[in-house]
Amino acid sequence: MNINNNDSSISEENRKMKNIQRICHQIAKDKGFWDKDRNNGELIALMHTELSEALEWLRNESNLKEKEMWDNVAEEMADCVIRICDFCEARNLDLDTAIWEKMDKNKKRKRKHGKKF
Ligand SMILES: [Mg+2]
Repeated sequence: MNINNNDSSISEENRKMKNIQRICHQIAKDKGFWDKDRNNGELIALMHTELSEALEWLRNESNLKEKEMWDNVAEEMADCVIRICDFCEARNLDLDTAIWEKMDKNKKRKRKHGKKF
């Protein structure tokens, strides 16, 4: 999938998502993360690390107030989405379309997608 941002058939929402992708990637490039091409496996592993960090905030027996704990979880979720957007932009993937197409597929699947949980 490839989006040309000048294509007038692209919805306003698509443009917004595409912009988020582009900005995430530009910031990563500006910070030197793309001075040379990167390994796909490493990039995906780094997405996992953000989710693990979110889990650690939930696991911590800290003195944080409930809201602070959830703010930290949200930040790790944002980190994960930012890494996904950066990856998609670098690999020329249209994340917005992929999400909408997948949600449409999921709507047509069986309850719990035919799984126990
Ligand atoms: Mg993080």
